[in-house]
Amino acid sequence: MPIGVHTSIAGGLYKSVERAEALGCDAMQIFSRNPRAWEFKPVTQAEAALFKARREEAGLWPVAVHTTYLINLCAPDEAIFDKSLFLFKKELSTAEQIGADYIVTHLGSPQDMGTEFALLRILSAFKDVEAAGLGKKTQVLLENTSGAGYGFGSDLADIGRIISGARKFGLDTGLCFDTCHGFAAGYGMAEPGDIETLVSTIDKEIGLKRLRLIHLNDSKGAFNSGLDRHEHIGKGRIGLEAFRALLNHPKIKPVPLILETPKKTEADDPWNLNTVKDIRGGR
Ligand SMILES: [Zn+2]
Ligand SMILES: [Zn+2]
Repeated sequence: MPIGVHTSIAGGLYKSVERAEALGCDAMQIFSRNPRAWEFKPVTQAEAALFKARREEAGLWPVAVHTTYLINLCAPDEAIFDKSLFLFKKELSTAEQIGADYIVTHLGSPQDMGTEFALLRILSAFKDVEAAGLGKKTQVLLENTSGAGYGFGSDLADIGRIISGARKFGLDTGLCFDTCHGFAAGYGMAEPGDIETLVSTIDKEIGLKRLRLIHLNDSKGAFNSGLDRHEHIGKGRIGLEAFRALLNHPKIKPVPLILETPKKTEADDPWNLNTVKDIRGGR
């Protein structure tokens, strides 16, 4: 299984490749822009070409782009929905321009409008994405969330309905499963038998071949707490043995992993990467 980390683009897009390479990553994830701002500045052809060339040399696969946190594809407010869809399409076209394999997005919040509203709203957004000819070179991956407040996308059954709904009009999307968010949303991992149950739940609700990426994070928050607090691998409430069982599950082994664990010091990424390398294929 390829493994990588979320790396910074400070100093230029291509710098993220150099950072991933220095850490010995096979894969990587980036924000292609400031993840907390609406303003969109296009990537130049020169920047995109440099990124692609460096990425080729480094042999990284897959490369994922994570969208801006502000994007809300099921916002009841028309202006926020329009702004979100506009930025989502811009980010997706940038991802295609730089040759990214995946774009990972959260699904946003329908406020108090409920699940059916959210499903229809997101599917209408994706229909527009497909009509614009986007999402073919770079595949859209839907990330499960921790289930806090009115946030949508913590239930894998809902994500499964969006994936199958989008397929009907020709947009092939997939799942990015975040372990911290899943655990916080009530998908057990820490008890014996939990991993087997989780893998069959993903298969039933999504289909394992549509599980394209795993965000590998331990959880500071307790099981089913709704808290989205990432922790170093093995140092949180999920625990090392759960990760060992997950990563050595035959159905999970081929799935690429991206760490989004805390980065307080320079030693944090190497520590988490080594921890994962030690447990996969271990005893
Ligand atoms: Zn995310
Ligand atoms: Zn994540």
